[in-house]
Amino acid sequence: MTIICGKCEKEMKEVELKEYEFEEGIILDNVRAMQCPSGHVTFTEEQADILEQRTEDIKTHAFRFIRSISKSARSLVIRIPSDLAKYLDIDEKSKVEMIPLSKKRFLIEVK
Ligand SMILES: [Zn+2]
Repeated sequence: MTIICGKCEKEMKEVELKEYEFEEGIILDNVRAMQCPSGHVTFTEEQADILEQRTEDIKTHAFRFIRSISKSARSLVIRIPSDLAKYLDIDEKSKVEMIPLSKKRFLIEVK
C-alpha cells in the first residue's frame, strides 16, 4: 500500500517518531507514523486509533498533583511529591532541566 503526501505528493514511509504531541499537553513517545521525505507527517487509520487509545490511557491514569510554590532565598521552590519522585526514579541528587513552553506551562525533564 502506497501513501502519497497530501502536501508535497511524495511517497510516505512508515517511521517511528521519537516524540509526538497528538493532543495538546500529552506527548507520546515512539509513535508510529507515515512521513514523507519533506518531513510531513500523517497517520493511517490504524496508527491514529493507537494514538487516540494511548492518549486516552494517559488521561485516565495520569496522576496529578497540585502544589503551592514556596520561597527559598531568591528562588522559588516546588516540592515534588514522594509518589511522583518514586515514579520518576529521582532523588535529591537528580538533575532536571526546566523548559518554559508558554506563560502558563513548563516542562521539567529528568536528566
Ligand atoms: Zn510531504
